[in-house]
Amino acid sequence: MTDRKDELATNLAKVERRIADACAAAGRGREEVTLIVVTKTYPATDVRILSELGVRHVAENRDQDAAPKSAACADLPLTWHFVGQLQTNKVRSVAGYADFVQSVDRSKLVTALSKEAVRAGRELGCLIQVALDAGESARGERGGVAPAGIEELADLVAEAPGLRLGGLMTVAPLTGEYAGREQAAFGRLMDLSTDLRRSHPAATMVSAGMSADLEQAVAAGATHVRVGSAVLGVRPRLG
Ligand SMILES: *Cc1c(COP(=O)(O)O)cnc(C)c1O
Repeated sequence: MTDRKDELATNLAKVERRIADACAAAGRGREEVTLIVVTKTYPATDVRILSELGVRHVAENRDQDAAPKSAACADLPLTWHFVGQLQTNKVRSVAGYADFVQSVDRSKLVTALSKEAVRAGRELGCLIQVALDAGESARGERGGVAPAGIEELADLVAEAPGLRLGGLMTVAPLTGEYAGREQAAFGRLMDLSTDLRRSHPAATMVSAGMSADLEQAVAAGATHVRVGSAVLGVRPRLG
């Protein structure tokens, strides 16, 4: 094994252990939680190693990096998640490689994603990104729609050709009533997911939890955790 493969294998085993322990503590089966490794800022060679180590889901947050990386890894059996704030002028590119877009937070984006998914002949899984710090404003500082806007967006996605409504995603807020209260924030997301599933029963995905708070997310009931630095190392630059 190369040094890097060794390092990633060790980190991955630690994260696996954390997820397994969190599932056990919550009385959940390990298979109820899917690990998505966030590979942003790290090279395609790392993605290849992760694939060799058994990772099946990866996530990126910038199209400029994700497009060439996914192309370089097109031969690997990976599911690609897009988790960053998305401008409509990047949608055509993202629709070409992403299997899931977890950052759907406005109707303009739904329209653009639908058009480009149909053009590419692909089906895109869509998660509505929920901003738990949005307060009365429509959008959160780091993207996301306020809880009051979920239902309308979900209906739009569900009716849009080329799109499939997967569920909800959130990032633990740094401001507002949930700042520093990850478990409460993720619990709120679960309640919102329960509401959503009344009208959209197939929208079962709940994407929450990162390197620092995956235990709280698993305890709250998350189905997907998005882990970057705990697997790949502290990122060399912001991203
Ligand atoms: C970077 C990122 C993650 C992973 O964060 P870590 O703290 O490195 O685990 C998860 N979700 C989103 C949306 C991100 O941008």
